[in-house]
Amino acid sequence: NLDNIEGNIRFDNIVFEYEKGRPALKGISLDVHAGQSIAFVGHTGSGKSTMINLLCRFYDPVEGRVLIDGKDIRDIHLQSLRSQIGIVLQDTFIFSGTIRDNIRFGRLDATDEEVEIAAKAVNAHEFIAGLPDGYETEVQERGSVLSMGQRQLISFARALLADPRVLILDEATASIDTETELKIQEALKTLLFGRTSFIIAHRLSTIRHADNIVVMDHGRIMEQGNHDEL
Ligand code: ATP
Ligand code: MG
Repeated sequence: NLDNIEGNIRFDNIVFEYEKGRPALKGISLDVHAGQSIAFVGHTGSGKSTMINLLCRFYDPVEGRVLIDGKDIRDIHLQSLRSQIGIVLQDTFIFSGTIRDNIRFGRLDATDEEVEIAAKAVNAHEFIAGLPDGYETEVQERGSVLSMGQRQLISFARALLADPRVLILDEATASIDTETELKIQEALKTLLFGRTSFIIAHRLSTIRHADNIVVMDHGRIMEQGNHDEL
């Protein structure tokens, strides 16, 4: 029942607490137009991850609603909601198997060609093709075949192939060499294009490119605007 969403998202007067009497979000309203990229910034404990948790419906708000295209997400089938949301987490998830299988994770029907197109689009093809077994290279969950940056690019390829309308990205803080960093920034632009995205941002370059930077503090939005406005 959520096949063709546009991706307009509204947090409408959200109050949320994990523990009674200790609100983590204290009345948050935020309007996001389809295709916009939002960067959440703020100190530890300010509520950034909690916003994401509510959007994915890991929890429901105590007060207020989260709406997608005007529809309360509590009225949307959970499977249907989650199928529209792609998540790229900080601690990039790589499982034991081939690189191809890792990219195809959410799209088992994808052809070899589609996998490679996605990899090319996010600057991952070059290093994959340079490995002795290419796309058939076996990687381990915690193995060292791939660098942090390469793991990140694979997770981008995976997200691009899944093609969700809404993308959540918890940006890695790990130090990555300058060349890979540039590849990641470029890939990020491709990945975000045309999607509504929420980025828990750590890199200044990412923050600079966001349509709306939302500064959170103690469960409230302190200010918002683009890089020029703030
Ligand atoms: P960080 O930058 O450290 O990731 P954050 O901005 O993502 O911080 P949240 O994780 O959203 O912050 O936390 C907001 C508040 O909710 C904090 O006071 C935190 O201690 C509390 N909190 C977060 N997760 C839980 C949980 N699972 N159970 C209880 N309290 C939680
Ligand atoms: Mg967090």
